[in-house]
Amino acid sequence: MNASFRERWQQLDWDDLTLQINAKTTRDVQHTLARDTLTLDDFMALLSPAARPFIEPMAQKAQKMTRQRFGHTVGFYVPLYLSNLCANDCTYCGFSMSNRIKRKTLNETEIINECETIRKMGFDSLLLVTGEHQTKVGMDYFRQHIPTIRRYFSSLMMEVQPLATEEYAELKTLGLDGVMVYQETYHEPAYQLHHLKGKKQDFHWRLDTPDRLGQAGVDKIGLGALIGLSNSWRTDCYMVAEHLIYLQKHYWQSRYSISFPRLRPCAGGIEPASIMNEPELVQLICAFRLLAPDVELSLSTRESPYFRDHVVPLAINNVSAGSKTQPGGYADDHAELEQFAPHDNRSAAQVAESLIKAGLQPVWKDWDSYLGR
Ligand code: SF4
Repeated sequence: MNASFRERWQQLDWDDLTLQINAKTTRDVQHTLARDTLTLDDFMALLSPAARPFIEPMAQKAQKMTRQRFGHTVGFYVPLYLSNLCANDCTYCGFSMSNRIKRKTLNETEIINECETIRKMGFDSLLLVTGEHQTKVGMDYFRQHIPTIRRYFSSLMMEVQPLATEEYAELKTLGLDGVMVYQETYHEPAYQLHHLKGKKQDFHWRLDTPDRLGQAGVDKIGLGALIGLSNSWRTDCYMVAEHLIYLQKHYWQSRYSISFPRLRPCAGGIEPASIMNEPELVQLICAFRLLAPDVELSLSTRESPYFRDHVVPLAINNVSAGSKTQPGGYADDHAELEQFAPHDNRSAAQVAESLIKAGLQPVWKDWDSYLGR
């Protein structure tokens, strides 16, 4: 087997890390804030409860760094749900196999309708999303439909079941630019508790996925933990940072993005095991910016309009807007099929207008396929 983050993960003791994070002091935070280049130990200090009174200076520093590296731009993308079929049971997700909901997989005509509707909304950057159903929404489905979808958009990402290296390499030739793959939690016992059936129960196959993406030469790799799934969101987010630093060292040709999904209500959903409040989410976002100045930070419609309007100008590079989380949601609604209820229900134009008022420049298209990758 090729090298993988798994070896590093095996050296990291969850309880020990949790203790280390909680033991950070005001002095550690002050020392970290005085530095320009941060280590993972510094990141731990910024993530810790001791950094809570320092959110304001962290935000100021994060905003300055973001403007220096990225100017005033904010990229806009939108998810296109192709299918809500899933062969897994995850305690926190409405698409779980055992949930008795209506199932739908878009056919070619429906996909074209969705693509045309989304283009009219102004988007040129698309995130394809499916449940995880290897046989019905697997490589054959992707081979058949990605070339069509690609004709409509100049940037194409996907968030589907983890695939093999050679499959990612093939999808890249069909026009795939990036893949989001969230570990959900890096705490294996919590992971097993929340993944009850299906291939997703294989914690290590998922953990190795970003390595396979790097080995396949995929241009952009998105990481994240589902905040609230384990009993310590701080430890999970520290693991994300470890994962990011490892990947940047091993697959330096790829770009990286980090997302911050918090558990949202869904059909048959669960209560979070650790609650992260909004100030703590700001703290986390700023901590990532200070650790990784060049990495894209993304904030979805899971968060409220008020929160997004105030936090995007600090350190966020990419936002989704006007999102529907059900297959066929743009051209023909189908609200009963949705995965979770977005919190920011404004239209894409309304979100763009708010960000312009805050002095930012929405970017709908930042690349053209003829330029290659
Ligand atoms: S989280 Fe993903 S794998 Fe789990 S049930 Fe939902 S769609 Fe399926």
